[in-house]
Amino acid sequence: MPEFENQIAVVTGAARGIGRAIAARLARGGAALALCDVLAEEVEATAAALGGEFGVPARGFVVDVSDPEAVEGFVKHVKEEFGSLDLLVNNAGIARDGLLLRMSDDDFDRVLKVNLYGTFHFCRAAARVMAKQRSGRIVNISSVIGVMGNPGQANYAASKAGVLALTKTLAKELAGRGVTANCVAPGFIETEMTAQLPEEIRVEYKKLIPAGRFGTPEDVAEVVAFLASPAASYLTGHVLFVDGGMMM
Ligand code: NAD
Repeated sequence: MPEFENQIAVVTGAARGIGRAIAARLARGGAALALCDVLAEEVEATAAALGGEFGVPARGFVVDVSDPEAVEGFVKHVKEEFGSLDLLVNNAGIARDGLLLRMSDDDFDRVLKVNLYGTFHFCRAAARVMAKQRSGRIVNISSVIGVMGNPGQANYAASKAGVLALTKTLAKELAGRGVTANCVAPGFIETEMTAQLPEEIRVEYKKLIPAGRFGTPEDVAEVVAFLASPAASYLTGHVLFVDGGMMM
C-alpha cells in the first residue's frame, strides 16, 4: 500500500521550488493534496499537474500564510472538503536581504510575518484538528541559516531560528496526542530563491559544502516524506539538516 494512502496533505508555498517537490513526493506516496500559495495561477497549475501525474485528488488555493484569518478559513475548508488533515508542511518562505545596520523595519517585519508567523498560524490551526483526531504530522521548513546566522540575513535567520524553537515546543505539547512535529533545515538548494545570488557568492557557498554540490528540491522532499511517513512515528522535535554536510 502506498505510504500516504488516505492521507490529506497541506503544503504551503507549493506553487514552485521546494514546496512543489514536496507536494509531488507526497502525491507519489498516494496523499491527496491541498496546496496553497500567493501565486494563484501557478498553484492551481501545480495542483492540476500533480493530481494528473499521480492520480490523487489535488486542489490549489490562494492563501497568504501571514494572514491568520485566511489560514483559519483554509484549514476549516480543507477539513470540510477533504474530511481530515493528516500532514502539514510549512514551506512558504521569503527573503529580503540587507545588512542589519541598514535593515528597514518593513523588511524585518515582512520576513518574520511570512516565515515565522505564517508557520505559527498554520501550526495552530492544524494542531487543533490533529489533536482532536489524535494523529498528524507537521514538518516545518527551517534553514541552516537559522542555526549559523548569515551576514545580510538577520531577518531571515531570526525567522528560521524561531521556526526551530516553535517546532520543538509544539512537539512537546502534541506528543501525547499522537502528533509529531519536526523540522527540515535545508542548506543551499537550487531554486528561484537562490538563483538570484551572484556567481561569486555561489562559488563561496560551494566551498562550505563537503558534498561539493548544491542540493535539489527533491533532496529536501525525500527527507520531508520520511518525517511524514509511518517509519518516523517515534521521531518528534528533531531537526534534520539536508545540506550535503555543511553543518558538521
Ligand atoms: P521559492 O521562492 O522558490 O518558493 C517559495 C514559495 O512560497 C513560492 O511559491 C512563493 O510564492 C510562496 N510564498 C511566498 N510568500 C508566501 C505567503 N505569504 N503565503 C503563501 N505562500 C507564499 O523558495 P524555495 O527555495 O523553494 O524555498 C522554500 C522554503 O525553503 C522556504 O521556507 C525557504 O526559506 C526554505 N529554504 C530554502 C533554501 C534554498 O536554498 N532554496 C535553503 C534553506 C531553506
